[in-house]
Amino acid sequence: MGMPFRKGMQSPYMNVVIYRNFLFYTALILSLFCFPACDTRRPAPKQSFMAMGTVGSVSLPARDAVRLGAAVAIVTNVLRNLEARYSVYRPESELSQLNARAGNAPQPVSPELREILALAKAYGDLSGGAFDVTIGPLMKLWGFNQNRPRVNPLTPDQVRPFLDKIGYRHIVLSNDTAFLDQAGVQVDLGGIAKGYAIDRCYAELLNHGFSNALINLGGNMRALGTPAKDRAWKIAVRNPFQPDKSLGTLDLSNGQAVATSGHYERFVTLNGRRYAHIIDPRTGFPVSGMAGVTVLAHTAVDADALSTTLFVLGAQESLTTLKITPGCAALFVPDQQPLEIRIAPRPADWFSPAPSLADRVILINE
Ligand code: ADP
Ligand code: MG
Repeated sequence: MGMPFRKGMQSPYMNVVIYRNFLFYTALILSLFCFPACDTRRPAPKQSFMAMGTVGSVSLPARDAVRLGAAVAIVTNVLRNLEARYSVYRPESELSQLNARAGNAPQPVSPELREILALAKAYGDLSGGAFDVTIGPLMKLWGFNQNRPRVNPLTPDQVRPFLDKIGYRHIVLSNDTAFLDQAGVQVDLGGIAKGYAIDRCYAELLNHGFSNALINLGGNMRALGTPAKDRAWKIAVRNPFQPDKSLGTLDLSNGQAVATSGHYERFVTLNGRRYAHIIDPRTGFPVSGMAGVTVLAHTAVDADALSTTLFVLGAQESLTTLKITPGCAALFVPDQQPLEIRIAPRPADWFSPAPSLADRVILINE
């Protein structure tokens, strides 16, 4: 079911050098935070593939099984095109060119890259700066983009000089140009690219006459239609402490999306504490204290950007952001024992906890 992989290929979006054979099999077992839940009544046919450095899949209703290959071809074509254009590891890519000319001069950009950057800036505003695609230098500093996280913690004094290069307001857009207005500013789209890509795949499947499908890329998912009459696409949310078990399930209605950010796929352990590959742009330090955040939203790009944002903000501070993002809901799993599943806003009826974990659900008060 997989694609042929070249060893040592660089993963543009996750900013790590990934040995894809290895990744494919371990990711299948460990790293997909959300996954299509198995439905024993009539399982939806599903095909997996590798793209953007992670595992993706397309599921179709059983009656459409013969079209699965065609759907996967459409989706992988969209993903590989995006990867080629916005990979920071391909010096000729549009994004690399933009990064290379930071502090130099505005550069003509495609409407698509302009759109992604405009979205990224909007999430920056919406999150009060917790979401910031200019964290590139900090990802490098902490070693995440070489997949060689630091073993020694840095001090605030060592990190502080890098904070000068961080700030999404350094991305200046005009109608057809983009400009990083300070030398050393580097855009990393890892917190938004997979969601954006899923929305593009969704639109492309619609264009090709598909009306029912579930698209998944590394736990970023969007539902089109339903798998069968009177049923919704059912998603299982992985237990971050026991990745082979689920915390519970949720149903995605037509068009809805879900994404998860977690601390157990890519992380660094410093002084016995686990830090995620998500950076708090306000401090320059990777985030600790959160094991996973799952976000339900109307689009995959919203779900992706918000899952990263809320991971940075933590459950309580996230309430402010959730108030201004109607239709979005979130599930937080703090990195602590005993396990807690914190959900906001009320009601939490979109999530059905596993029976054994029902008493672990806590609705967050405003
Ligand atoms: P994953 O890539 O595992 O699905 P996320 O969607 O949460 O997880 O994205 C994490 C990625 O987002 C990081 O690898 C990095 O590229 C980028 N990133 C890290 N911190 C931030 C931040 N504060 N704002 C925006 N993007 C971030
Ligand atoms: Mg994200």
